[in-house]
Amino acid sequence: MSTSSTRMIRIFDTTLRDGEQSPGASMNVEEKVMVAKQLARLEVDIIEAGFAFSSPGDFEAVRRIAQEVEGPTICSLARARPEDIDRAWEALKGAPKVRIHTFLSTSDIHLKHQFRMTREEALKRAVAMVEHARGYVEDVEFSPMDASRSDPVYLCEVLEAVIAAGASTVNIPDTVGYAVPWEFGGLIRGIRERVPNIDKAVISMHCHNDLGLAVANSLAAIVEGAGQVECTINGIGERAGNTSLEEIVMGLRTRRDLYGADTKVRSEEISKTSRLVSKITGMVVQPNKAIVGANAFAHTSGIHQDGLLKEKSTYEIMRPESIGLVQSKLVMGKLSGRHAFRQRLEELGYRLSEEDVNHAFTRFKRLADQKKELYEEDLEVIISEEIARIPERVALKDLQVESGTNRVPTATVVLDIDGQSVKQTGTGDGPVDAAYRTIAGMTQTKSRLLSYTVKAITGGTDAQGEVSVRLEEDGRTVSGHGADTDIIVASARAYLNALNKLAYWSSKSHDAAQRVSLI
Ligand SMILES: [Zn+2]
Repeated sequence: MSTSSTRMIRIFDTTLRDGEQSPGASMNVEEKVMVAKQLARLEVDIIEAGFAFSSPGDFEAVRRIAQEVEGPTICSLARARPEDIDRAWEALKGAPKVRIHTFLSTSDIHLKHQFRMTREEALKRAVAMVEHARGYVEDVEFSPMDASRSDPVYLCEVLEAVIAAGASTVNIPDTVGYAVPWEFGGLIRGIRERVPNIDKAVISMHCHNDLGLAVANSLAAIVEGAGQVECTINGIGERAGNTSLEEIVMGLRTRRDLYGADTKVRSEEISKTSRLVSKITGMVVQPNKAIVGANAFAHTSGIHQDGLLKEKSTYEIMRPESIGLVQSKLVMGKLSGRHAFRQRLEELGYRLSEEDVNHAFTRFKRLADQKKELYEEDLEVIISEEIARIPERVALKDLQVESGTNRVPTATVVLDIDGQSVKQTGTGDGPVDAAYRTIAGMTQTKSRLLSYTVKAITGGTDAQGEVSVRLEEDGRTVSGHGADTDIIVASARAYLNALNKLAYWSSKSHDAAQRVSLI
């Protein structure tokens, strides 16, 4: 149904910046690069890779993504301060398509209490910083923070001035998630009517979900002519989160007849991207979440099932295949060689270095010994665990657990700690507890286990179990993952993965991100 009148809406993904601000969702550099590569396969238009000034880790993530990820424009956030903008440029320079995104509040509440600036001072600063950024790059985005609570007349003055100074995208944030769709649509309409040079810039919006309206507000803005959406995978983000990318993309595509707008996102990659972000951040998707929830395409009512069997469109407005939710396909078996393995990875969209292929192949062989048939999801797990690995202070060498109806669960664990092999035996309330207590004693960790979840990656009793844990130590939360056909082994791997992340963070303790309020 693609017609020439269909407007293409740009997708600006901020999973790695705003999404990462979700409590407990921090990602390390390797993980961010991995998510960015998947966002490139999804074909988003712009990736906001981080806030380069905030910490050395964020700087490094922006720099590596700008260097290594092909396709989308790579963007860094920067407050309206020269040193922030200089740092954003430092991280981005050398990459082919880059953007600097700078912001300053326009609401009287923020200007008075937080920035202690007058409206005139704020306007001058905004213009000067857009000009400063334009000194480095062509592509500059400006956000008037807290726009939805700003005086619309003043807001329009600021927008006119920053567009004249060279901003090619103006992004209207509903920073506190306060707007209502018809009101927010009206704000965008007002901007189009009152800002004389608005045709020189793309209008964008950045909505928060405090009242559950982020997607609705974004769609209302699109209807009024906005050309870019800021959003995140699974809608993660500060507090109640951001506009969810998958809901915007599928909303526009499913009702293109009504919106007359679409995006160039490859929707078949949505499901895979959602799983990757959920796994890396440890933020589980609620089963009833639109588009990517486990139940989103599960019809249980008998009447619906009957209709679906006769004709899919009776109750199905979207095909599960359109988000890449296909029957798990058998991809590899035990006898598959290294060459076939590499080829399969390439078909799935992963281009890996020789070293990464070697690591992944070793892991694949181990898994193929345990499990007869390997599915695409199994390969995804191998890739994410072997590629996004961090230096391991502690590694699992051996694990034996005894448990049963009439015995005290006992674990014997052999760990390699800083290159030394250590063995210990301990007991617990169950086999996982026994393994965890023993590992905790051996590593002398002071961390606290916040959550433990286990799920099967594919069907069948020989499926890999995937365990996710979240640990907290000194106010830092990390998630750890482990997969194995034995769930006790998977549990131990997940726990050690999280402990290694804590060690990795504390070895980079200078990397405490600045807590500043953002859009
Ligand atoms: Zn935000």
